[in-house]
Amino acid sequence: MPHALTSRDSTMQSNPLGSYESSGIDVLIIGTGLAGLVAALECIRKGHTVRVLERSESINTNGDMYFMGLSATRFLKHWPELMEEYHRISLHNAWIETFKHSGEVIITPKKVADRLRAQGLDPDTPPGEFQMRPLVYKMFVSAVERHGVSVEFNRKVVDYFEDEKRGRAGCVTADGTTYEADVVIAADGVGSKSQKLVGGQVRAKPSGRAMWRAAFPIEHLDKNPEVKEAFKMMPNNEPIVRTWLGPSTYALTLTREDVMVWIMNHDVTGTEKESWSNTIDAEEVLQGMEDMPGMEVNKWAPIFKDLVKITPPDTIVNFELLWRNPQPTWTSPGARVIQIGDAAHSYLPASGNGATQAIEDAVSIASCLQIGGRENIPQSVRAHIRFRFIRNSCAQKLGFSNAELLQDTDWDKVKLDPRRAAPKLPKWVWSHDPEAYAYENYEKAVASMKKGIKMEDETGFEPNYPKGYKYEPWTIEKVMEDMRAGKPIDLGPGDWE
Ligand SMILES: Cc1cc2nc3c(=O)[nH]c(=O)nc-3n(C[C@H](O)[C@H](O)[C@H](O)COP(=O)(O)OP(=O)(O)OC[C@H]3O[C@@H](n4cnc5c(N)ncnc54)[C@H](O)[C@@H]3O)c2cc1C
Repeated sequence: MPHALTSRDSTMQSNPLGSYESSGIDVLIIGTGLAGLVAALECIRKGHTVRVLERSESINTNGDMYFMGLSATRFLKHWPELMEEYHRISLHNAWIETFKHSGEVIITPKKVADRLRAQGLDPDTPPGEFQMRPLVYKMFVSAVERHGVSVEFNRKVVDYFEDEKRGRAGCVTADGTTYEADVVIAADGVGSKSQKLVGGQVRAKPSGRAMWRAAFPIEHLDKNPEVKEAFKMMPNNEPIVRTWLGPSTYALTLTREDVMVWIMNHDVTGTEKESWSNTIDAEEVLQGMEDMPGMEVNKWAPIFKDLVKITPPDTIVNFELLWRNPQPTWTSPGARVIQIGDAAHSYLPASGNGATQAIEDAVSIASCLQIGGRENIPQSVRAHIRFRFIRNSCAQKLGFSNAELLQDTDWDKVKLDPRRAAPKLPKWVWSHDPEAYAYENYEKAVASMKKGIKMEDETGFEPNYPKGYKYEPWTIEKVMEDMRAGKPIDLGPGDWE
């Protein structure tokens, strides 16, 4: 029985798997990225029926590390076995150390907890942590399969549609098969095939920057004892992140018990692609490290070059950093197809928010669909967008400002203020709980929509973005213009800290 939105009973709260009656809502999810997988889990928890389509032939464990914010892990309290596994694969007692690119130490190793404390944050509830994507991805795929969700691999979606009269939406795959459901969640990443229907097509713009990225088994460090020593773990086998700040570049390394990761930001060289399988040879990186602007006086530390040399073949990815304007719409005209994650809003991999916002979206849409019930799907999709759009637009802007902070290194300022060596993670980002927010504000959002109040004029509930911020459409061109002129990025009014 679909749930009518009349009373604040136990189905209008955050509850564990098995607590909600069947919503009768049939959900089709496209893509098994973090957004699609979490949407699948959260939709089954909320009582929806779920099917998932993925274009890859099987699970894709490419990738290395990413930042997972606290707001993206709150839902794990309802998945105790996942919470346990998440803690098992997390970095425990991690350290952080900061260098000049030339190898000089700027900030000696400190426990991440101490660096957090120095920033006035509570080390017991860090704003998030670095995670290995392949491990988290495998964890979510097996949970989805364990809970009986049908995941069909090798299903490349080429088109989306909706039929408002019948209250259905669907997609067509490359082999001509049509799939239908009450609602379709497009979680198929940047360049989603749903853009044509949604009308939010935005062009990717080259940023002029790219990233070399590599993750490989730690045993490869045995090939060079000096590298092994320089990139060793801390006492008691505690993992360490080392950040390296150069004149027009930055890099980071992570040494864990099982894996070594290194990532370096650089100017484009011609072989970069926005693809997690675009591998290049170590020689190209070594040459690129020589040729970077600003290396005439202070070159890259030879030990970092030695680390590049021992990286196994077919491992280094040259990932192009493309910028996209915020997409004006995320849903089809009848609100039966909804984009989430990178399909709706892309982030640079260094912004610290791509995975976090994708997961928040997934939790939010599953909750909104449950709150509104089967008879109110378009209304729930629109309420979800009201909760997510301005927050994401702010997080995207913050990502640009973080990228600028890391690229524009002033070593003396970093020595005085270590916060300049890491992306900004303000409280409005990590303190959010997308599920609680949906329960708290769904009815208010529906009331505002019925009164015709515009999203940007919404005052009916507490913002989940910087307090005092007033949304104004913005473009990447303006952001780039400011960056080129050496001006700080204009984030807009409000408390961004
Ligand atoms: C293989 C891979 C490795 C990554 N590694 C990293 C990393 O190391 N560090 C980092 O910061 N970020 C990484 N990312 C990106 C990061 O995971 C995302 O930016 C973020 O988590 C948002 O996730 P998403 O689910 O919205 O999109 P994505 O993670 O991009 O997932 C989209 C999914 O949709 C599938 N898909 C795309 N088009 C279609 C189609 N037409 N039909 C059916 N399925 C389709 C894709 O195969 C993919 O599984 C990686 C992404 C991928 C896909």
